[in-house]
Amino acid sequence: MNNYFIILAAGNSTRFRSKIPKQYSMYKGIQTFQHSINKALESKLFKKVILVINRKHKKYIHNLDKKNIIEINGGKLRHISCFKALKFIKKFKPNKVFIHDAARPNFSIKLLKNLNKYLKDYSAVIPYTKPVETILNKNKKNFEILKKENIIINQTPQCFNFKKLYDLSKYNKFLVTDESSLFIKNNLKVKFIKGEENNFKITKKSDLNRANFENYYGIGFDIHRLKKYKKLFLGGVNIPYHSGLQGHSDGDVILHAIIDGLLGATRKKDIGSIYPSDKEKYKNIRSTTMLLPILENFYKNRYSIENIDINLICEKPKVSKYRKKIIISLANLLNLRQNQINLKGKTVEKLGLIGKEKAIACEAIVSVKKYV
Ligand code: ZN
Repeated sequence: MNNYFIILAAGNSTRFRSKIPKQYSMYKGIQTFQHSINKALESKLFKKVILVINRKHKKYIHNLDKKNIIEINGGKLRHISCFKALKFIKKFKPNKVFIHDAARPNFSIKLLKNLNKYLKDYSAVIPYTKPVETILNKNKKNFEILKKENIIINQTPQCFNFKKLYDLSKYNKFLVTDESSLFIKNNLKVKFIKGEENNFKITKKSDLNRANFENYYGIGFDIHRLKKYKKLFLGGVNIPYHSGLQGHSDGDVILHAIIDGLLGATRKKDIGSIYPSDKEKYKNIRSTTMLLPILENFYKNRYSIENIDINLICEKPKVSKYRKKIIISLANLLNLRQNQINLKGKTVEKLGLIGKEKAIACEAIVSVKKYV
């Protein structure tokens, strides 16, 4: 397997009318270009993913998996960017190369496998769809109605024998809008296979809303006793206080309530079923560590968090003093914006264990979307 997946993301999105270019805007809970990366990696068809970017867009790219993805700078036009990427991977002596537009996040892994299968017998395999609208060709003042049966619409990913595409690109003098046209202009055979209707290109801002999702809510509650001289952790933040929360873990009631909210919304029972308190290996575990596998699963199953509302119930410490710190910490831990999180402090009129400053409780409600 010496195949490479090139994602062209250097475009300027002139039709998109937004500060953030379309390939870096959020779509179905993650940045648009990430969908293509995730699917290419999940398909296990490729040695590396090559992300071709515009140098000016670097600030929009976070947490790139450097082991599997190589980022390179593109050129002013699509075919220049593409050739830069081909030149870059030449030293790896690639077998097959897939070229894909970062603004098409919806292709399936099945399509990748299908393209790959056909490339055994052809040098270029292209997915296509058929138009549904009537298409006219304007020739000066006359209109000609084109026969729909004869028209196909090219999509990406397109896949090629590396050497053939490289040679064609090297000697190309035309402006090409996609790589299949290089083969067509040179009268070389191209295999067209059925593409996917949902694999549309994000062009306008409203395209970002073309996603189907389901809404779910999860509620979480937790309470721990306070113990003298223990460190107090709330929302992953070490809060200066004379006591900390007693428990098998660090007792972070905020994170425990959020974990239960996430598990609730995804219908995965509760924190105790994942971290049983009788298991020695979880003794003194940090709650930030407990959150990691739960979040990984959550995002892997195409969920995204809309907002979290939290009630922290205690007499002391005063929440207002640490609110900002806790919200920043939660936003970092959960990969959210700060304005998606709300934290309220609640006292209990000196009633019961909490009122006597012997315990801290927390409840959280989480609203999530699952993209389908
Ligand atoms: Zn707990």
